Amino acid sequence: MKAEVVSMTADNLDMEAIRRGGDILKQGGLVAFPTETVYGLGGDALNPQASMKIYAAKGRPSDNPLIVHIAEFDKLAPIVAEVPEKAKILAEKYWPGPLTMILPKSDLVPQETTGGLDSVAVRFPSDRIAQELIKAAGGYVAAPSANTSGRPSPTTAQHVEEDLGEAIEMIIDGGQVGIGLESTIVDFTEDVPVVLRPGYISLEMLQETLGDVRMDKGLIAADSKVRPKAPGMKYRHYAPKADLAIVEGPEEAVVKKINELAAEAKAHGEQVGIIATDETKDRYPEGLVVSIGSRKEEETIAHHLYEVLRDFDQSAVRSIYSEAFYTPRMGQAIMNRLLKAAGHKIIQVV
Ligand code: AMP
Ligand code: MG
Repeated sequence: MKAEVVSMTADNLDMEAIRRGGDILKQGGLVAFPTETVYGLGGDALNPQASMKIYAAKGRPSDNPLIVHIAEFDKLAPIVAEVPEKAKILAEKYWPGPLTMILPKSDLVPQETTGGLDSVAVRFPSDRIAQELIKAAGGYVAAPSANTSGRPSPTTAQHVEEDLGEAIEMIIDGGQVGIGLESTIVDFTEDVPVVLRPGYISLEMLQETLGDVRMDKGLIAADSKVRPKAPGMKYRHYAPKADLAIVEGPEEAVVKKINELAAEAKAHGEQVGIIATDETKDRYPEGLVVSIGSRKEEETIAHHLYEVLRDFDQSAVRSIYSEAFYTPRMGQAIMNRLLKAAGHKIIQVV
């Protein structure tokens, strides 16, 4: 099977194609579509066979639950057992948007969709193409990121085609996504809300709205024995084909260290990849240098991260060294993904 690719924009929706996409989903097929975070691989969330197809297409372990996407507020109640007051407040503030909430599930949601858990992850995306497709599919679309499991998440329809072009029926090309990192996941199944995955909406923003919010212990100490509560966060993820390591420390020391590593590799006849910023990119004479953006624009850094990692897959480099990006608001989310991509390989310099 080769996926049909249809192009449209949020301002110029192709409603006929969306209706066809909706029909494919209703019949248990798979359609990839843009959201404001990354591209999603959609299947009917209430159809266990569709969820199984999603796991198979991505090569994703089936104990790693899927996020159910809705496009109307009143679609939430039927799929959950209850909505705690704090979840209502957050939904009002951040939906539609890059926020996923974990809530106790109702019987309507099959175990296949939730990886056997009694809770369900729900998100109401703001992307208009996504919203129309979800409505056309009957209201509930399970959609993980539309990449092969383990690879960087897709931020363009071309990325989706690379990974899944042969495995699904349709890809809706809505151009580059806006944010470029997956949604913030907040778990409401315990007394205090817990962030299971950082994203565009930061811990501080959540605390401002809700008061007490915690970070999952398994996220804070990556090398500890504590398992992350979101099953998906325990897997190596977002990884380019080359070996990636992060060089951390004061800027001068980082540039010096990466240059030493690049010179060493050159002596062995190899070139390394370097993930730099606009501020440092001209200071690495030996490597294959890519600027991820300016340190002053953290949204650009977030937006480019997966694309940069994927682009190195087209090159011959076997090692990549990246600067660290602890930016003020999205730094937590950016570094969470970068550290996972690097399998937590960090070179500390002083
Ligand atoms: P993706 O589908 O690629 O955006 O990843 C979804 C993430 O949400 C994975 O890390 C899942 O493990 C996590 N997730 C989905 N549903 C649940 C749930 N019910 N409880 C905890 N984590 C969940
Ligand atoms: Mg994913």
